[in-house]
Amino acid sequence: MVDETETSETGMSRRNYLQTGAAALASVAFASNAAADEQESDSSGGTSGGSNPTLIKDGTVVTVDPDHGIRYDTDVYVKNGEIRAIEKDISAPSADVIDASDSIVVPGFVNAHLHTWESGVRGIAGNWTFMEYLEKMLGNISSQYRPQDAYLGNLFGAVQQLNAGTTTVLDWFHIANSPGHTNRAIEGLEDAGIRALFAHGPPGDDSAKWWENSSVTHPDDIRRLARERFPSDDGLLTLAMGARGPDYSTDEVTRKDIELARELGIPVSMHIGSLGPGGVKKLDELGLLGDDLNYVHGNRLTEEEFELVGQSGGSLSTTPEVELQMGMGMPALGDALEAGAVPSVGVDIVSNVSDDLFTQLRMALQVERGIRNQSAVEANEQIQDVTPTAHRALEFATIEGARALGLEDEIGSLTPGKRADITIIAGDDLNTAPVHNPVETVVLQAGIENVDTVLVDGNVVKRDGLVYNRTAQNNLDRLERSGRRILRESGLATSE
Ligand SMILES: [Zn+2]
Repeated sequence: MVDETETSETGMSRRNYLQTGAAALASVAFASNAAADEQESDSSGGTSGGSNPTLIKDGTVVTVDPDHGIRYDTDVYVKNGEIRAIEKDISAPSADVIDASDSIVVPGFVNAHLHTWESGVRGIAGNWTFMEYLEKMLGNISSQYRPQDAYLGNLFGAVQQLNAGTTTVLDWFHIANSPGHTNRAIEGLEDAGIRALFAHGPPGDDSAKWWENSSVTHPDDIRRLARERFPSDDGLLTLAMGARGPDYSTDEVTRKDIELARELGIPVSMHIGSLGPGGVKKLDELGLLGDDLNYVHGNRLTEEEFELVGQSGGSLSTTPEVELQMGMGMPALGDALEAGAVPSVGVDIVSNVSDDLFTQLRMALQVERGIRNQSAVEANEQIQDVTPTAHRALEFATIEGARALGLEDEIGSLTPGKRADITIIAGDDLNTAPVHNPVETVVLQAGIENVDTVLVDGNVVKRDGLVYNRTAQNNLDRLERSGRRILRESGLATSE
């Protein structure tokens, strides 16, 4: 239950945290806005990015770009939302300077699978099986959501992603109960200021109709979205289809849905292989495999199916904490890697698990290491090396995630010419200092509390450990009321 006395990582109440954050940041935000206004007046950029130049100074820059590697005491220069240079001692007198000495600068994380709307009902599904989730969340709670609840869930869910250093999410939206729900959910992402692939899914008003071997095709409203809400693909938000696919709909529906997405020129993400095998084989039989398909979970797919995913250029999004809890199977990251599929990591359901990529990435990495080590353990031998490495894991949460979402030319690494989605992690906190290996510090030591500063498309959305989002600050009470009402009307409230 959302409780007003709930404490955040900082030990402050959530309410105080956001209020203090906004209040303390007001001067920064106003100064930044004024400077941005001034800059915009003589800028021809016209991008959504912050046009005030920013200079991130003297950081340990982990570029996740093989051509640039790790740079020490290095500056990152950002202008018009773009990374312009990564060099030592850059001179930029008009830039807003962010001191990154004692900090690690990494690409903003890519959370490849998130049902952002569920942030209004946090902490209710920690003991649920997958079947309970389908019944309670997609059969009951999702029916109680109104457009305003979708807005609040997406706004706060996305703001918290930014707080946690994640700058891009694939928002898998399955409460498209009306065009109003969908519109408001998109507005929530917009108001958060996050980069997102909005995967429009089915309504959440009738789980039997939409999720049990459904014979109903994807809602036609996605055509309106493609036409009116996402006429171009150069903004922070782009469109995808959250399709049900062969595990949840008939062959005919699967074929029609994927053909519709291809007609619209948008990628498809679908949950597959968490109930049983055969889904990818079915897609192959239907002639539908392609590099525009993103597969979520995949735990119970066969080896042959993973090979089909890899050969067709598909991506796999593993969400280890949800998969381990809900009985889907062991995370399939290793199978995806072996088959040559694009590996990515997501959170999935914030109603039961940690919503930050630090936790999910660490779990994905160590579970995969455990799986690889097991044969030596069973033979009573000692392992010879540890794989995947921490650096490889960081790629899963950055450049590989970007590839999975089709955004690798824009984001996923700190590379001049890419958009400035950047996370700065304090290396001088009690749990991060001293930094001997910046990648290991990020992947295996750090957490949300160490995320000092976050930029999305050049816009500073978090600085000095404080989130700046006035809309969220002004609506926190409404999120709590929304969450309480939904649970009350679902009959799932455990307290008031
Ligand atoms: Zn999911």
